[in-house]
Amino acid sequence: MGRLFFILVLLAVSLYGVKLLRAKLDEPSRKSRKLDRDTSTTASNNQKIVKCLHCGLHIPEKEAIKKGDKNFCSIEHASRHLS
Ligand SMILES: [Zn+2]
Repeated sequence: MGRLFFILVLLAVSLYGVKLLRAKLDEPSRKSRKLDRDTSTTASNNQKIVKCLHCGLHIPEKEAIKKGDKNFCSIEHASRHLS
């Protein structure tokens, strides 16, 4: 009888262990999935990033100086490139 009880306890403990292990294994994947969702939402929320034609600096399109279809990080670079 004592042996049967021991086996039952062992079984319960191992099942509990597996459950914990699965929860632990699930956690990082769930986290990364959430991160993926976060980055995609921030990417869609953020402005488009454009490159300064003069120095190659990446700047939000909103802050870029536009000269036709060319983008610049500053008026100085825009005029320098065009002159
Ligand atoms: Zn620049």
